[in-house]
Amino acid sequence: MKKARIIKIVSSRYEVLDEMGNRLLCVAMGKLRKSKSPVVGDLVMIEEFENQIGIQKILPRKNELVRPSIANVDQAIIVMSCKNPDFSTVLVDRLIFQVVYAQIHPVLCFTKMDLIEEDDIIHQKIKEYKESGYEVYVSGKGYACDELIQALKGKISVLTGQSGAGKSSLLNRIDPSFHLQTQEISKALGRGKHTTRHCELHEIAGGWVADTPGFSSMDFTNMDALTLAERIPDFQDYLHECRFNDCIHVKEPDCAIRNACEQGSIKKERYEHYVEIVEMIKNAKVKY
Ligand code: GDP
Ligand code: ZN
Repeated sequence: MKKARIIKIVSSRYEVLDEMGNRLLCVAMGKLRKSKSPVVGDLVMIEEFENQIGIQKILPRKNELVRPSIANVDQAIIVMSCKNPDFSTVLVDRLIFQVVYAQIHPVLCFTKMDLIEEDDIIHQKIKEYKESGYEVYVSGKGYACDELIQALKGKISVLTGQSGAGKSSLLNRIDPSFHLQTQEISKALGRGKHTTRHCELHEIAGGWVADTPGFSSMDFTNMDALTLAERIPDFQDYLHECRFNDCIHVKEPDCAIRNACEQGSIKKERYEHYVEIVEMIKNAKVKY
């Protein structure tokens, strides 16, 4: 048996990449179909039998997304344009919350930098994300993508962000040969709701990028506030200093997160965006 990664699924055929870099077409073995089905990104054990190669086993996943169906994502690139559509820290933070809740590393990429002036407030906001410890890249017409290319190397990435934020353009700039494939992205997105479609991993800049944007819905109501707070990077250093173990950092006394906000070590804006989500979660629960 040898180890391989699923990079594409077409009906019941699985295209995998083995450790030598060979692309092989596999089928799922009967015993596998009874348990969970393999998804793109899965690490699997494959074995040749008769004239076919069969997937014998799916190795444990470090994370998985449902829409698109993909496992073992190393990072989500949150793409936010400075203009057209408008820049929004509310949206950036909500995307960060979704990504970290799924236990995926968030990477921020601000696009269309060429459309803003040097004194635009967005520059300050970008600085603040960096100060909060986020991995941040900027792009735009006339900007080099070297750093982002480095960041993609050897990893499985999903892009997320509003339509029109510049996701396809970004991939094209990183790898001009990706052009054809991004047209497929647009086609796939415009496709009718009833057509199920698997996502596919494309090799770009020595890494693997999913051709379907992640986190299409913005539903927070199923989240657990305590878990969300535990996964927000800005909160990490203070979590265990609150008076109560189950502090959700909204109204509790002696809350280290709120204190850190007062002192400026946590950005107030991010904290406020977190509180908005907690309110959403609470309101959804009241209904039942
Ligand atoms: P997607 O929906 O996120 O894939 O966004 P697209 O890549 O299709 O980009 C949407 C529009 O923004 C297109 O008209 C692009 O030409 C434009 N665009 C993308 N990136 C940039 C950029 O860096 N600078 C400028 N000025 N326009 C951009
Ligand atoms: Zn607290």
